Amino acid sequence: MIFLRVAIPSPLRRYFDYLPPDHAEIGTYQPGIRVKVPFGRRELVGLLLEVVTETDVPLNKLKPVTEILDSTPLQPQYIRDLALWAADYYQHPIGDALLQSLPVFLRKGGEGVASHTYLWQVMPDTSAANLSDKAHQQQALYQLIAEHPQGISKEAIRAEGGQTSLLTTLENKNLIIKFKQTHSLPEAEHLIKEAPLPLHPEQQNALQQITQQKGFNTFLLDGITGSGKTEVYLQAIHEVLKKGLQALILVPEIGLTPQTLQRFKSRFRVPVVALHSSLTDKQRFDAWMQAAQGEAPIVIGTRSAIFTPLKSPGIIIIDEEHDSSFKQQEGFRYSARDLAVVRAHAEQVPIVLGSATPSLESLHNCAQQRYQHLTIRARAGNASAPQFQLMDIKRLSLNNGLSSELITQIQQHLQQGTQVLVFINRRGFAPSLICHDCGALAECKRCDARMTLHQKPAHLHCHHCDSQRPIPVCCDQCGSHALKPVGAGTERTEQTLNKLFPDTPILRVDRDSTARKGSMAKIMDQVHKGSPCILVGTQMLAKGHHFPKVTLVAILDADSGLFSTDFRGMERTAQMIIQVAGRAGRADHPGKVILQTHHAEHPLLTLLATKGYEVFAQEELKLRQQYQLPPYQHIAIIRAEAPHSGRAEGFLHSIKEQQSAFFSQIQWSGPFPSPMEKRAGVFRSQLILSSQSRPLLQHSLSHLCPGIEDHPLASRIRWSIDVDPYDMH
Ligand code: ADP
Ligand code: ZN
Ligand code: ZN
Repeated sequence: MIFLRVAIPSPLRRYFDYLPPDHAEIGTYQPGIRVKVPFGRRELVGLLLEVVTETDVPLNKLKPVTEILDSTPLQPQYIRDLALWAADYYQHPIGDALLQSLPVFLRKGGEGVASHTYLWQVMPDTSAANLSDKAHQQQALYQLIAEHPQGISKEAIRAEGGQTSLLTTLENKNLIIKFKQTHSLPEAEHLIKEAPLPLHPEQQNALQQITQQKGFNTFLLDGITGSGKTEVYLQAIHEVLKKGLQALILVPEIGLTPQTLQRFKSRFRVPVVALHSSLTDKQRFDAWMQAAQGEAPIVIGTRSAIFTPLKSPGIIIIDEEHDSSFKQQEGFRYSARDLAVVRAHAEQVPIVLGSATPSLESLHNCAQQRYQHLTIRARAGNASAPQFQLMDIKRLSLNNGLSSELITQIQQHLQQGTQVLVFINRRGFAPSLICHDCGALAECKRCDARMTLHQKPAHLHCHHCDSQRPIPVCCDQCGSHALKPVGAGTERTEQTLNKLFPDTPILRVDRDSTARKGSMAKIMDQVHKGSPCILVGTQMLAKGHHFPKVTLVAILDADSGLFSTDFRGMERTAQMIIQVAGRAGRADHPGKVILQTHHAEHPLLTLLATKGYEVFAQEELKLRQQYQLPPYQHIAIIRAEAPHSGRAEGFLHSIKEQQSAFFSQIQWSGPFPSPMEKRAGVFRSQLILSSQSRPLLQHSLSHLCPGIEDHPLASRIRWSIDVDPYDMH
């Protein structure tokens, strides 16, 4: 007897055995094929792990597989191995990890066949003379197809005014033939469409290091904003394409813009496949197949694209490697950047992690000689690095967050005919609404958080749980009508700037102003026209954009992350400041960056503004070592949440009591209430496990998880584990 061992997207950390379908032949099932199985009252798509001859399940409890979906696996073994590695490392249920490594279309049971484009060609030794003179439309269609000796698609025929309904008629007369389009790649000398730029010495050195060494190597391409990292990627990819190999490029969620894609498309004469969110499930699957079958030499995507198979892998590039979006913060909590290194090692290809503000982890890996550190400290072309000014706003009177000196400087830059960027990392009108009589703040009923006041349209909005309500007319504590907005968000800053500079266009960029499709493109078009304007926005402005005419960047509140409870707060603040600053002076205009702060004497902030990110990062690393924090310590967080206060914490206490004696070599701290204990109506608590030894922590976690799963409360409390957490909340 044989049994099918199947991985199913269930929260249980195990596999499930099934009987093969009736009259099935032994040996026909290859691991990796998809199967449909009954599970509880549902039917799920699972992945066959192996065919076994023994099972622990009593025979009368076993159910047969409902349907075999594939005859051969669609996903290569090494991608399954990567997903299994990640399931093990991140302590995630294997079934869910494996299924998440497949395109959604396949997860939902879609047929594993890619759509093809069909083309038509005329048959050799035929001519329009084979058609009757009176069949004008058939004549015209034949002529049209004859003009495209490489073949023409239905869409192209229609676009040129041909009658596609007559295709079958001509086919039946054996005058034309239909065939599947295949993408044959151009010869090595014809790969390039647009000439590469002559590299400056630091770029040249980086390119040489990346392309001359064989096999697996991890490079940290640490180059200031505008130093020409993308040019290095492009030329490294060119070397890979010349060998007939493929490149996989991961970019942050917000970075997969048409401009980014355009840079790759205009350089190479090969298909560039982008896995972006506006594709349908089927289109994504088709793109995935093109990558898997080697028809797409260049594949660009966000986090989940790390599981895209390549037929002939040649290089992996992670752009903006410090970006938080590479770490999935829900469910399967993997880091695509770290998995990319594992993948590159398995495939024996080079991997490039690029950033102007590398993560402290990656800098530490360089110091440990695990990664090769490639630096670019000069800006490309004529651009020069921006000047920083820490502007002490203690005791100054501010006009809705703007100091008068800042207003004067904005005025000067506009007068000289350039553009200004005002950065404020809060959307909405004001971060809270206060009662002037009793001091009560408008709080979210479901979170330990204040409601943000929005005016366009007018409402209160919780940015943590998304609940919304109308703006109250009076205080619900004392009934007073004296409700006042406190602090400023993008809407209020926009309004203030509009009053101060009535003749200058003010362009607001945040999640609200860009929600409508095409609105971001419209704003960018106006900025790129180059006439004076003020851009006001959140971190959406900080990533990936080129604003050649911006000469002044103003950061209204540099302090928000300085005293965060999260040990990464300072690192994140520094990265954000440098990234926003990097938008200034990218072309021929020198740039200036003003940081408004109440802590102008803060040592790390001063260091950042005067000495730059590299020196800042070294100091911050020293502090991390001193306090034994990552990257000098490895951590995992066990989080629990429950609808009643204290219950989640009680659960974690009990876990700690039961288990900490067995795993006493690692450090246990907590449980503590999460920094925002109540969120979206549930109370959250966390237990932090840490060790200087990654293997020891790993070993402990893999024995600990089954213990938690078996805890009597585990099925009634939502709990999760986050290995190498990015966000401590
Ligand atoms: P980064 O990716 O480091 O931010 P980019 O590759 O986008 O930098 O380069 C910034 C600008 O400098 C781009 O406009 C690019 O075309 C230009 N550039 C890059 N390398 C060179 C070079 N070697 N010579 C001249 N211009 C360059
Ligand atoms: Zn009140
Ligand atoms: Zn809320």
